[in-house]
Amino acid sequence: MSTIVSSLQSIKAQLPEDVTLVAVSKTKPSSDILEAYATGQRDFGENKIQEMTSKWEELPKDINWHMIGHVQTNKVKYMAPFVHLIHAVDSFKLLKEINKQAKKNNRSINCLIQIKIAEEDSKFGLSTEDAVQLILSPEVSQLSNINIRGLMGMATFTDDEKQLRSEFKIIKSAFDELKNKIEGFNTLSIGMSGDYQIAIQEGGTMVRIGSSIFGERNYQH
Ligand SMILES: *Cc1c(COP(=O)(O)O)cnc(C)c1O
Repeated sequence: MSTIVSSLQSIKAQLPEDVTLVAVSKTKPSSDILEAYATGQRDFGENKIQEMTSKWEELPKDINWHMIGHVQTNKVKYMAPFVHLIHAVDSFKLLKEINKQAKKNNRSINCLIQIKIAEEDSKFGLSTEDAVQLILSPEVSQLSNINIRGLMGMATFTDDEKQLRSEFKIIKSAFDELKNKIEGFNTLSIGMSGDYQIAIQEGGTMVRIGSSIFGERNYQH
């Protein structure tokens, strides 16, 4: 059995049934994706629109493509025909553009709003207050070709379990505040290779795992 297949199977065995695994394939070749695909994996995550688009063109069409990276407004059009879920939305301007491009493609696009939970300054995302205000705003409810499905967050890169839990609790409480107010709001995307077990215990419904499945990446972004 290949390393990819055995890693994937051992991670899947640890995940509760209602947690969705996004296999993060950024920087990895299509052949790696196909190995995972052959085991039944259908959700894959990429952080660059151009790379995701060329993989989409080449690979089976029943793959759910997740854009997990920061999105530039002028590139939304390239993924609008096919993207399954955009994880890192953090402005009204971006939501408006996603709505516009979704409409052009005669479809709805699922989005998560990114919340900044990590201590580091470099991470993108909104404060919980700004995210709640944005999601509940009348302007957003008028965007008829987007569905806001939940929240996404990246915790600090640390093995301090107490800190990880407290960061995940911040986003979980915003998620709980919103989930009964918005139709279809059911996704909490937290947890990566280093912290996914804790993220699940703290209420995550979707984990984004790359290096523990596909091995270390040569460059990281
Ligand atoms: C790369 C990346 C991941 C996966 O990271 P691993 O540590 O390799 O599991 C998850 N989420 C985001 C936003 C990423 O950019």
